[in-house]
Amino acid sequence: MLIDISHCCAEHANEAIESLFAKAAGDPPGDGIWLPHESVFIQRLVELFTDRGLARISGIQAELSKWLEHTMHNPGPPQPKPAGGVRRWTKGEVALTKLYLETLPPDQFTLDDWTMVVDYLVQRYMPAEDLIEEAKWLAYRSSMMGRVQSRLDELSAAGADALLAAMPASVAAAQAKVGLTPAQAKMIEYGSLRCAENVVALADEARHALRRMVVDYQQALAMNDPTLRESLWSRMFDRFGDMNRDWRRIAITEAGENANQGLIASLPEGARVKRVEQYANACPFCRKIDGRVMTVVPDSSPEKDGDTMVWPGKTNIGRSAAPRKKTPEGLVDRLPSEMWWIAAGTQHPHCRGRWVVVQQDPVGDDPFDQWMAEAL
Ligand SMILES: [Zn+2]
Ligand SMILES: [Zn+2]
Repeated sequence: MLIDISHCCAEHANEAIESLFAKAAGDPPGDGIWLPHESVFIQRLVELFTDRGLARISGIQAELSKWLEHTMHNPGPPQPKPAGGVRRWTKGEVALTKLYLETLPPDQFTLDDWTMVVDYLVQRYMPAEDLIEEAKWLAYRSSMMGRVQSRLDELSAAGADALLAAMPASVAAAQAKVGLTPAQAKMIEYGSLRCAENVVALADEARHALRRMVVDYQQALAMNDPTLRESLWSRMFDRFGDMNRDWRRIAITEAGENANQGLIASLPEGARVKRVEQYANACPFCRKIDGRVMTVVPDSSPEKDGDTMVWPGKTNIGRSAAPRKKTPEGLVDRLPSEMWWIAAGTQHPHCRGRWVVVQQDPVGDDPFDQWMAEAL
């Protein structure tokens, strides 16, 4: 594939190179994003998190069609218009906005009211506080399942369910009952924040896109252009398909990242782990690292060799898959320190890679083993 990017400025050329590689590493429609995760340790978590996100998104979708068809109208007395805005609304503000919009006669909706419908739906079905709780839920549980995997080579789906059901309800409860290593506690904290950023950004981006689409749709209605109206309607509803995929990508990537990091953070120094990158459409980088055996070291280790060692928190963030970058002097090779290496978690968004433990020194029974034995 030859693409001439020599006329772009360096910044745009680098973006173009990145996006080419992101596409190569990505997951075009219909090629496996909805398949169950290959690791039984996190398979159920991924499905539960997916289902809850998709229920939120379909709530917005179902209600938006009703608003657009004016079937939400309530013939009661009109109510004053609330302030609205982008900040987080209280439950009371959500309820007042709903009442205002419901009692507003359909022929009196302004474009501002239509964008308020979108804001109201996103605030109702995807409030940031709920999304942050969802993120914590996934990060904590997937990290714990990574720790389970550090003790067990195999697990049945029923075993995974039993462990999930018996899992202490929060990070604090887990700390008290089974103890967390400082490395694992730190990974859960990072993981929760990162996942929260991703899901909150998904809701924000959807809000902007839907606001624009609803305004365009109302303009098509005002211009009495049925062809345009139909195409905008279907584009609007395609956007929900994109949201579903984005949510699923977060479920797969974050559960994998946290489980892998949780596994590495739970293993003793010197343990050996083998990378498994076997799933539909693994990218060239992941296919190349499939089967590589790495040694676990603490992140505080003074002499870390990125080619042969993994440690908690080793990621590809800020690194690139593209071997060259554009500079004012032309295309130059990236330094090894700028390139992807074998990260401890997932290698990039959509990656489904995982580890299997090939060797570790026996660790004595601890409260975590006792908890596992009781749950299984
Ligand atoms: Zn990959
Ligand atoms: Zn991968």
